[in-house]
Amino acid sequence: MIWNEVETIPRAELERLQDKRLIALIQRLHARVPHYRRKLDEANIDPANLKGLADLQRLPFTRKHDLRDHYPFGLFAVGMEEVIRIHASSGTTGKPTVVGYTRADLDVWSEVCARSLALCGAKPGMIFQNAYGYGLFTGGLGMHYGAEKMGLTVIPISGGNTARQVMLIRDFQSQIVACTPSYALTLCDRLLAEGRDGLNLRTLVLGAEPWTQEMRQAIEAKLPVNAVNIYGLSEIMGPGVSCECVQAKDGSHIFEDHFLVEAVDPESGEPVPDGQPGELVFTTLTKQAIPLLRYRTGDRASLCREKCICGRTTTRMSHIIGRTDDMLIIRGVNVFPSQIETVLLGMAALSPHHRIVVTREGNHDSLAVQVEEAVANGPDHEVLASQAKQGLREMLGLNVRVTVLAPESLPRSEGGKLSRVLDQRH
Ligand code: ADP
Ligand code: ZN
Repeated sequence: MIWNEVETIPRAELERLQDKRLIALIQRLHARVPHYRRKLDEANIDPANLKGLADLQRLPFTRKHDLRDHYPFGLFAVGMEEVIRIHASSGTTGKPTVVGYTRADLDVWSEVCARSLALCGAKPGMIFQNAYGYGLFTGGLGMHYGAEKMGLTVIPISGGNTARQVMLIRDFQSQIVACTPSYALTLCDRLLAEGRDGLNLRTLVLGAEPWTQEMRQAIEAKLPVNAVNIYGLSEIMGPGVSCECVQAKDGSHIFEDHFLVEAVDPESGEPVPDGQPGELVFTTLTKQAIPLLRYRTGDRASLCREKCICGRTTTRMSHIIGRTDDMLIIRGVNVFPSQIETVLLGMAALSPHHRIVVTREGNHDSLAVQVEEAVANGPDHEVLASQAKQGLREMLGLNVRVTVLAPESLPRSEGGKLSRVLDQRH
């Protein structure tokens, strides 16, 4: 089901809409937000003389520190009396960044989350268990409103309490569960331990943290479900900036009538060609409370503008390779945790549960990986470790110390984002 026909309009038509919205956005920001007025003036942008998309690359970037420098409400473009909701980032990397929503913003957000659910295969009347955290984190409430808008039966259970999650998945016959990929592993393992009969689960809507194609395969091998990627960040809106279609599961469709996307070289800020990884940059075309111009997400992915088999014409982004903040620099080599995940999950004898430990002795950084075997008393741990070590050397060009552990040795996600990296250098 395609929720909104705007998702299928010819690209030329979409671009005309973006032209118009971008011009209006720049004028609004110039008139209402002192920070942007200064930045636009410095860049010699004349709000009375704009073309639209053609102006994009002349526009200033916005970075996370701009939000922090104006903490909490300094970048808002409307009076507080129009702001009816506040959210903040989960603060994975430092002080939270605060965002606000007008009623119109909440309408758009529900709309893009409804579109996302439709992309995943949801239909009105289905039972939707929302295991994203409710609260300042955008995941829970964002999906909640989208699901209600679509007419799903929403179970607002929030994250955590795995025993209860699993009970309700069975007793309420939940068809769709939304949560982080790491928590999906926890849930699947628990469901499997109780036997897979009697379930009505079809779809997992997974996002809020990086995961790989290999992790998708590992999850889908456990249960007969479609594990579908949803992406978003609080600065731009929350979940529902983009989502995969269940037909192709090949890149997440970006809702470009609201979110204008670019992929740029993280060093130079220049655009990278489609198909090549770059840092994603978003401009909020319609947001009222806190519109952002060319926001540098730190998330790396590639873009594809070819029409999809699902009929949508929107640009798709690949799985996130990693966020800049998560990139480890080991002896001068850039390492994304997702690369390690890809190698480990490529080995059938290993489980998806792993942890990355970085240590420093003197000036020498070392990378160690701990990973659980897939089944207790499986193949020899030393042999597995040396195979994994070889795969990692080929992928990263680094020597990695690998330890294979018995099942259930490593921490599990208990509901939210799970960090698999233990950086002991600082
Ligand atoms: P925080 O920055 O505190 O984690 P958010 O909750 O806004 O705050 O998280 C947004 C970030 O989560 C994104 O910038 C991205 O790094 C990550 N993220 C969200 N969805 C996905 C996804 N589907 N795949 C990979 N990373 C994701
Ligand atoms: Zn598609």
